[in-house]
Amino acid sequence: IYILAIESSCDDTAAAILHNSKALSNIVATQHIHEAYGGVVPELASRAHQQNIVPLVHQALTEANIDKKQLSAIAFTRGPGLLGSLLVGTSFAKSLSMGLGVPLIEVNHMEAHILSHFLKDDDRDPPTFPFLAMTISGGHTQIVLVKDYFDMEVLGETLDDAVGEAFDKSAKLLGLPYPGGPLIDKYAKDGDPDKYRFPIPKVDGLDFSFSGLKTSVLYFLQRETAKDPGFVEKERDNICASLQKTIVEILMKKLSKAVDDYGITQVALAGGVAANSGIRNALKTAELERGWKAYIPPFEYCTDNAAMIGIVGYFKYLDNRFSDLKTPAKARYTIGS
Ligand code: ATP
Ligand code: FE
Repeated sequence: IYILAIESSCDDTAAAILHNSKALSNIVATQHIHEAYGGVVPELASRAHQQNIVPLVHQALTEANIDKKQLSAIAFTRGPGLLGSLLVGTSFAKSLSMGLGVPLIEVNHMEAHILSHFLKDDDRDPPTFPFLAMTISGGHTQIVLVKDYFDMEVLGETLDDAVGEAFDKSAKLLGLPYPGGPLIDKYAKDGDPDKYRFPIPKVDGLDFSFSGLKTSVLYFLQRETAKDPGFVEKERDNICASLQKTIVEILMKKLSKAVDDYGITQVALAGGVAANSGIRNALKTAELERGWKAYIPPFEYCTDNAAMIGIVGYFKYLDNRFSDLKTPAKARYTIGS
């Protein structure tokens, strides 16, 4: 089975070809235009998707070395995401499925982040059900109980900012370009994580909150630069290390609670923030010291990509879960709905 998968939920246009559960090509066009604005501008994102999508799909087919006539189905991201961005991928997928006379398969982007663990890879085994998934990305922070491919339950999520936003907004306050998460990670490596303290929010159950952290970083930087205008420049690495330590602590506290509450020690990370070395190391430590089994996808499957849309498409294809041409894009689209 050959699946063409299309992802256009935010600011990356992506296309992939899968042969069964293996990605033959996985191409992402990152839109750099947003960097100048310090965040994604929806209208610009949507226009860039329109320009990118046709050449990108061509490239995905060429790299996979297959002809579009060989495709068994077209999978696309239905949501959640920016409506204008989703519309481009949705409309393109529908037209192509109609033109080629092959089935159309809608995919929930957040389920795809989780199921990216099932993309065939000779170096790793996929998790076995049931497992806990922590999806940490630019728009989401969730702990999900994954009982089966299409049986997932959100156990907890952020009440305000996503963890990726906490990274990016803090980075912005430090004067770093967007997206600042990877830069905080980079500078943290040379800093002292115990130099500064930021508060750990008190939130019930398995939910998260990150907006308080952002505010405390703002006040901290205002206070310190009032005393010494060169503070950020001198202390950048220590601030990044301390901040990253705090964020990792917040994530690990909730994940540990979920492991205890549900008695499941298989833990899978998903989403762009799973690239963060702090959270990766914390999970490796938990494997050694607490007997967890941790699953972390390769970097290209952590951030937004179309291969993860393709793997969901493949499982749905096997299960005859096809979509109607009338299926609208859905900006808000919760897991399991
Ligand atoms: P969503 O999937 O919720 O719609 P998104 O697709 O925008 O959100 P992703 O592409 O999954 O998010 O992840 C992007 C986020 O990951 C950004 O906030 C970015 O700063 C963050 N990020 C990427 N690498 C790192 C890193 N090494 N450390 C910290 N954050 C990182
Ligand atoms: Fe994403």
